[in-house]
Amino acid sequence: MGNAYLDKVLNEVEKKNSQEPEFVQAVYEVLSSLKAVVDKHPDYEKMALLERLVEPERLISFRVPWIDDKGQVQVNRGYRVQFNGVLGPYKGGLRFHPSVNQSIMKFLGFEQIFKNALTCLPIGGGKGGSDFDPKGKSDDEIMRFCQSFMNELQRHIGADVDVPAGDIGVGAREIGYLFGQYRKIKNIYEAGVLTGKGLDYGGSLARKEATGFGLIYFMREMLKANGTSLQGKTVIISGSGNVAIYACQKAQEYGAKVVAMSDSNGCVYAPNGINLDAIKEIKEEKRGRIKDYLNYDSTAEYMETVDRPRIWDIKADIALPCATQNDIDIVSAKKLVENGIMAIGEGANMPTTNEAIQYFLSQNILLAPAKAANAGGVATSALEMSQNSMRFFWTFDEVNEKLDRIMTNIFNQCQKAAQEYNMGTNYVAGANIAAFRKIAKAMRSQGVI
Ligand code: NDP
Repeated sequence: MGNAYLDKVLNEVEKKNSQEPEFVQAVYEVLSSLKAVVDKHPDYEKMALLERLVEPERLISFRVPWIDDKGQVQVNRGYRVQFNGVLGPYKGGLRFHPSVNQSIMKFLGFEQIFKNALTCLPIGGGKGGSDFDPKGKSDDEIMRFCQSFMNELQRHIGADVDVPAGDIGVGAREIGYLFGQYRKIKNIYEAGVLTGKGLDYGGSLARKEATGFGLIYFMREMLKANGTSLQGKTVIISGSGNVAIYACQKAQEYGAKVVAMSDSNGCVYAPNGINLDAIKEIKEEKRGRIKDYLNYDSTAEYMETVDRPRIWDIKADIALPCATQNDIDIVSAKKLVENGIMAIGEGANMPTTNEAIQYFLSQNILLAPAKAANAGGVATSALEMSQNSMRFFWTFDEVNEKLDRIMTNIFNQCQKAAQEYNMGTNYVAGANIAAFRKIAKAMRSQGVI
């Protein structure tokens, strides 16, 4: 990396976490941007600042036993990683997906520290979840699982301690069951202990839309700074969950044409533009598969995922990976560039491999990095906490305006840091540097802890 201290820390991370490839990948992505900053601060090494930054303050792993509809006891593994609380209570979502393991939890928790710093709101970085698979489970099974998960998690969270929210597989239904169990065990109405709550019991308007809308606000600013806009652009979006759906909605509002969306089985290509009402009905109401879209649009085609997602083979101006990590590898990146892509907006966390990121940057493709571009969700979660503390609520427009201001400010921070370090339009480095400087300053102020 051209700096001995950075090399030493990365080597240690690789050695100590050799079984955690996603975590090592996330650390590499951040550290490889920091040479110029670390060169200026030889004192970081004496303070072991980076060594402390890459080690979670606390990592909790626990048993989650629950009873399925047949009366059989099932056991899953739950996690909460409280990575860095220097800027505020730990904050980050819960993911329920069979792929969840310690490596995924730590990469997400690590990313979250930087993302939360960029929001400029008082929140530290954390993440949690379980290898539980909600797909195909009945409502009762979901409730029993959530209750059992909270039986342990409640010991470790609190409105001023650690505030979980949703992520893959955890939406308003799961947050409701988790909140109910927390309230029952603690006998307290602590609205600010979880975010993403239902609107009838302390949730915030515009939280559901926030990550997807925020991604497009960031994209709008990035395109504007480079002399263009979303108007008339062709867009492809991986995923068809919370982030993907609201990114699609806002992109369409700005005059873009979204021609493809996907899920883990495959993607649909709709040359006349995606009918978002149909996607919402399939995914939000029926909990169906993206393939069902063919019943709504006779001009659409379906392509199954075999070895890699086919969505990245479709020609477009803008690609928005909004599904999961490592969705765009180098093969997909080359295909996208070959097809004339001009910008990538990362809605999901770490959706692009490091090799693919470097390739996009080398080809002068504009890349809106996840920790900046998808920060709208956590920012609005922090606004939900503010409303809970005030025992008041803001209107949809009030929250949405604040979200827009926050995302614009995040873009400006990324741009300013990139310019300051002569990195042109490398917003990946800009985001890492802007966030890191804030965290490092607070860590220095709070001493060796
Ligand atoms: P959802 O569970 O609502 O949707 C996830 C979507 O991604 C689904 O379409 C799902 O398809 C697809 N997907 C999940 N895993 C895979 C996989 N292994 N391969 C292919 N497709 C997959 O989650 P969200 O929309 O909330 O989250 C999407 C991404 O955005 C995640 O990376 C999350 O961490 C990130 N994020 C979310 C925020 C939020 O506020 N929700 C905030 C910031 C980041 P299928 O149904 O087939 O599984």
